[in-house]
Amino acid sequence: MSRSDNRIYLSAPSVSESDVNAVTSALRSGWLAPVGPDLASFESEVCSFLDVPYGVALSSGTAALHLGLKYLGVQPGDYVIVPTLTFAATAFAVTYLEAIPFFVDVEAHSWNLSAELVGQAIDQLRRDGKRVGAVVAVDLYGTPCDYRSLLDICASRDVPVLEDAAEGLGAISELGMVGSFGRAGVISFNGNKIITTSGGGMLVTNDVEMANRVRYWATQSREAHPWYEHLEVGYNYRMSNILAALGRSQLGGISDEVLRRRGIRAEYHAQLSGVLGLGVLQDPPWGKSNAWLTVIQIDPAIHCNGPDQIRTALESANIESRPIWKPMHTQPVFSSHDSLLTGVAATAYSRGLCLPSGGGVSNAEITRICALIESAIEG
Ligand SMILES: *Cc1c(COP(=O)(O)O)cnc(C)c1O
Repeated sequence: MSRSDNRIYLSAPSVSESDVNAVTSALRSGWLAPVGPDLASFESEVCSFLDVPYGVALSSGTAALHLGLKYLGVQPGDYVIVPTLTFAATAFAVTYLEAIPFFVDVEAHSWNLSAELVGQAIDQLRRDGKRVGAVVAVDLYGTPCDYRSLLDICASRDVPVLEDAAEGLGAISELGMVGSFGRAGVISFNGNKIITTSGGGMLVTNDVEMANRVRYWATQSREAHPWYEHLEVGYNYRMSNILAALGRSQLGGISDEVLRRRGIRAEYHAQLSGVLGLGVLQDPPWGKSNAWLTVIQIDPAIHCNGPDQIRTALESANIESRPIWKPMHTQPVFSSHDSLLTGVAATAYSRGLCLPSGGGVSNAEITRICALIESAIEG
C-alpha cells in the first residue's frame, strides 16, 4: 500500500494488509487506550528481537530519551555529551531536564561519536569543575557506533551511556543488536523510521528498576491505589494499545524491510560507483547498518555542484531527498553552547545528501534517480 501521488518519498513506510488487520482487530477488541494486551506483547516482542529483558512502550522516542536521562540522574546544570551530528530531539531531551548539551564531533567511518573525543570532552569538562551527567550515543542513519571503544572510555570515567537508537532498529554491531548498548536504548517508531506505529517509541534496558520507574513516570506517576495518588510529577508518555498492535505487525516485517533497504543501498552503490568524487556511505568495520537511509557524499574538489543542486534537480522530478542533519553546534537554538569539534560533522553536512530509501523504492526508480544525480553534478 502506498500514497496515490507519484512522488518518490525519502522513507515511505511499508504498510501491509496485515498492518490494517492488526489495527482493526485491536479496535474491535475494545482495548483502545491506554493499556491492553497488545502493549505488553509489543514490548516483549521488541525485547526478544533485541535480546534485552525489559521494554517500556512510549509515545515517542523523544519521551524515551527524556525519561531515560531522568532515571540516569541528570540534574539541572549538568553537562550531557551529545554528538553534534544528530536529529535535534537528542539534544532537546537534555534541555527538558534543564541540563546542558555539550556537542562533540563524530568520526569519519560512521559519522557517530568519536570515542576519543568523548574521553577528552569529559576530562576537559571535569577540569573546569563541571558535572557530566551522561553521554548520549546516536546510531546515525542506522549505523552502529564503535561501542567497543565508546563504552570502554565512558566506563573508565564512570559516566553512564544512553543509546539513542531511534534510527537503528535492525542494525547489528560486533557486540550485539543496536539498541542493546549502554544503560538503556531508545527506539523510535515515528512515521518515517524503519518500522512505524505512526508515532511512538520504546525504552529498552537490562535494569528492571529502570523499566519500572520509566513506566511509572510515563503513566502520570500514579500510585497503586483505587484513587489517584501522586508522590511525584508524572508524564503522559505511554503508547496506546492500538498503536502497539500496529507495532507488533510492523515488527513482524522488520527483517524483510532491513533486507530491502540494504538492497536499495547496494543498488545505489552499484549504479554510482563509477562516478568519480561521489560515494555511498558504507558500513564501518565494527557493524552492519539497517540502511535506514542511503547517504551519498559529493567531493567539492571534483564537482562544483553539490548536495543542494542534486536535491533541487530531484525535487523538480517530484523526488524527495534531504540534506543530512544540520549539526547541532550550528543551530541557532544552541548558539551559546560549548562543543568539541574537529570539523568532520561540518564537512559531512556540506557534502552529504539522503536519498529515497523506503522499502518500496524499485530498481527502475533508482536508475532514474542516479541518472538525475549524474546530470545534476555535471551541471
Ligand atoms: C527520530 C529521532 C528521534 C526522536 O524520535 P521520535 O519518536 O520522533 O520522538 C531521536 N533521535 C534521533 C536520532 C532520531 O532520528
